[in-house]
Amino acid sequence: MSKASPKIGFVSLGCPKATVDAEHILTRMRTEGYEITPSYQEADLVVVNTCGFIDSAVAESLEAIGEALQENGKVIVTGCLGAKGDIVQKTHPKVLAVTGPHATEEVMDAVHQHLPRLHDPYTDLVPPQGVRLTPQHFAYLKISEGCNHRCSFCIIPALRGDLVSRPVGEVMLEAEKLVASGVKELLVISQDTSAYGVDVKYRTGFWGGRPLRTRMSELAGALGSLGVWTRLHYVYPYPSVDEVIPLMDEGKILPYLDIPFQHANERILKLMKRPASSENVLKRIEQWRKVCPDIVLRSTFIVGFPGETEEEFEELLDFIEEAQLDRVGAFKYSPIEGAAANALPDHVDPHEQEDRLARLMYLQEEISAEKLARKVGQTLQVLVDDVDEEGSVARSAADAPEIDGLVYINGEALEVGEFVTVKITDSDEHDLWGELVGQ
Ligand code: SF4
Repeated sequence: MSKASPKIGFVSLGCPKATVDAEHILTRMRTEGYEITPSYQEADLVVVNTCGFIDSAVAESLEAIGEALQENGKVIVTGCLGAKGDIVQKTHPKVLAVTGPHATEEVMDAVHQHLPRLHDPYTDLVPPQGVRLTPQHFAYLKISEGCNHRCSFCIIPALRGDLVSRPVGEVMLEAEKLVASGVKELLVISQDTSAYGVDVKYRTGFWGGRPLRTRMSELAGALGSLGVWTRLHYVYPYPSVDEVIPLMDEGKILPYLDIPFQHANERILKLMKRPASSENVLKRIEQWRKVCPDIVLRSTFIVGFPGETEEEFEELLDFIEEAQLDRVGAFKYSPIEGAAANALPDHVDPHEQEDRLARLMYLQEEISAEKLARKVGQTLQVLVDDVDEEGSVARSAADAPEIDGLVYINGEALEVGEFVTVKITDSDEHDLWGELVGQ
């Protein structure tokens, strides 16, 4: 890179979708010859990619913008907070430009305006898979942007707009480039993965000269042919989900479904305005397990939603008990500025919310500990994520990075990104321990 290259500092906050936005912007910057620097002092300008989902994220984003202004002075803001009215300009009037999420073009326009681009674009310095923020061996693959639902606790559709599916051929090309660059695990993300293609009426696209429909099961099948782990996130329990379960049983994609149910009581689900809320979830789970006995189900739940009675909460506990999910994340309902649920009556007392959260998590920990104990003695394929002084830290097909459990292989310094086989020797309520039996 030439010494004359203009340098940009980049601060990225938020969820995996924001990470993918950041990767697209960074890729464009590098393609155009900008250098990325981790130092505020060295940077000619700083871009802050923000999150605006909950109040603590808003505060964190505003603080990051303030720090960048103080340390550098030239700041462009992008991401979800930028779509929330004029909060950024009001708090930090000195920012140069503000865009919403998923706005690579607008961000680049602002960059060009305040830090003119080079004439020599150095395109050969950018790896073909683009610039990524995740480790070399796994990558998020964003297949769509926005959401057609209007869950009453969520402001994502207001921030990111209605569903826009990426062309299936483009998604597959990106996946191929990622695999060619050494990625061993593709994490499919969106706001609603099962809705992929609804906006384009499941249009037929092309990949490798063959027709391929813009549809979750077709995409999952194509990704499954790339020879790496494919993991589906943010899937809703529509009938079409049944189509991907055989692909899991055949080993084409990982037997893992991240499926946010949020609650089990029908009245609360209706108040939440959840998609597919009337489906009989327990029956569906039973069917999925019949087709693919190894399927791992991960879900999230909200406790203490406005109006949730003790009986309705107990119905949720009964569901958790019966569903025997592998992984559960639970959150206390918290009002988000602009969300419709704020106007609902009978908000649950915060102490009661805390109590319900603790009861749910206690129950799930017991379930999780029992399920993991059953894995002791089994032989599993795992992907090595990290190596430290005690040995290697890996994940099995049942564990998504950052949100699920780990498999510790003590005393073995393996290679990050390597698939190995381990025999499970111990477990607790979240993690497993194993010894190496094959590389
Ligand atoms: S499905 Fe509901 S919770 Fe998820 S992004 Fe859409 S509106 Fe928000």
